[in-house]
Amino acid sequence: MKIRNKLTFLFALIFSGLLIAFSLSVYILSANFRSDQFYSRLQDRAITTARLLLAVKEVDSGLLRIIDRNSLLLPKEHIVIFNKNNELVYNSLENDSLNIKIDIIDKVRLNNGLRYNNGDNEVLGIQFNGEQEDFVVIASAYDKYGRGKLQFLKLILVIAFIIAMSIIIILGLIYSAQALNPISNVIKQVDTISATNLNSRVEEGNKKDEIALLAITFNKMLSRLEKSFELQKSFVANASHELRTPLTAIKGQIEVALLNSRSQIEYEEILNSIHDDIENMNSLANGLLELAQASKDVSEISKSTLRIDDIIWTVQAELQKKKSNYKVLIEFDDFPEVESDLIFYGNEHLIKSAFSNIMDNACKYSTDNSVLVKIEFKAEGFLFGFSDNGIGIADNEMNRIFEPFYRASNAKFKKGHGLGLSLTKKIVELHNGKIFITSKVNQGTKVEIFFPRTI
Ligand code: ADP
Repeated sequence: MKIRNKLTFLFALIFSGLLIAFSLSVYILSANFRSDQFYSRLQDRAITTARLLLAVKEVDSGLLRIIDRNSLLLPKEHIVIFNKNNELVYNSLENDSLNIKIDIIDKVRLNNGLRYNNGDNEVLGIQFNGEQEDFVVIASAYDKYGRGKLQFLKLILVIAFIIAMSIIIILGLIYSAQALNPISNVIKQVDTISATNLNSRVEEGNKKDEIALLAITFNKMLSRLEKSFELQKSFVANASHELRTPLTAIKGQIEVALLNSRSQIEYEEILNSIHDDIENMNSLANGLLELAQASKDVSEISKSTLRIDDIIWTVQAELQKKKSNYKVLIEFDDFPEVESDLIFYGNEHLIKSAFSNIMDNACKYSTDNSVLVKIEFKAEGFLFGFSDNGIGIADNEMNRIFEPFYRASNAKFKKGHGLGLSLTKKIVELHNGKIFITSKVNQGTKVEIFFPRTI
């Protein structure tokens, strides 16, 4: 069921419940009031009749019937009077025997009065104290006017209920349609958005109510999607560009080599150059692979306990073995006395890769090819500082260096693909860590990485 119909149905249900309760109370109160009124009229008639017959000596049954016939009687009025021996002393309808059982007369005496219904007629029994003995007067009549009024009230209530319910259902449908219209609008607008027009946005209405908040949240999500879509597009374009450059170089060198026959030395030179290009492609492919691995969900990364000092020494040894001119100096601040304080939980390969990237950058972009690595052991975690005296990074490029394939303008003279920092940032975040860079052009750069002890 649509929300619109559900709301209308609920609204109508509540309203009809209230209306039924109200109408029933009005009807029941009116019915009780009519009945009370009629019984008091019956009582007046019963007392008047009894007084005339029993207290006025000149009046006997015959005369009383004549008086009754000439006065304004209640519809179907019938009054009978019994003496203390339950003998009938007066019957207002001479030819009509009122079917009154003895036990009813007894009940009147016992309860000092009685009210009950005989078919449509109301019957009232009262005790009348005569001079010598007590009598029981039973009067019955049909409340034609009261019942007619009640019948009319019932009709009015039923008609009013039907009219009110129809109005409520129509108003409910109109109101809920109006209230939900903005949602339908949002749905229509969202329906038109696909990968080709992620820059579209839905209308945010008054920017205050829940529907506007929904639209605002949706627009924010669209902005995030658009950004990551753009990043993905530029990533693929950059990756293909980076791969094409060495491939074009290799192709060119092979074509030139094939033009003429060459000497052994020339062939060796060409092969060496091709080897360099292949190395370059290899490092790019490795970088992309690692980036893909680091982009996985945290739960998919295998982790183990690692000794921080072991990791740092291994990375230093591996880097210096690969690039013999690099100098990696390591300093520990307050080396812990217990081994457990050196333990860190993470993915060994990724952590090594992150440290290696930062050390490699520091040596690569400094004239003395050296980096100072300082490790501080804090209560909450480990802080690694990598300082160099290299070319530095300009302030206006600082916020872009973590983007994949971005290389600062002063770094182009060195080989690189611009993947190292973005990969490192991903690895640090995977381990719940933080990375900060401070730098001054031509003075040096300091990269700080913080890993919490528990991740
Ligand atoms: P690259 O392969 O270019 O080194 P990275 O992602 O590792 O790629 O670094 C991105 C850019 O950040 C580099 O191109 C360089 O401009 C800048 N950069 C990173 N580290 C340093 C550093 N220690 N000194 C100066 N510039 C740096």
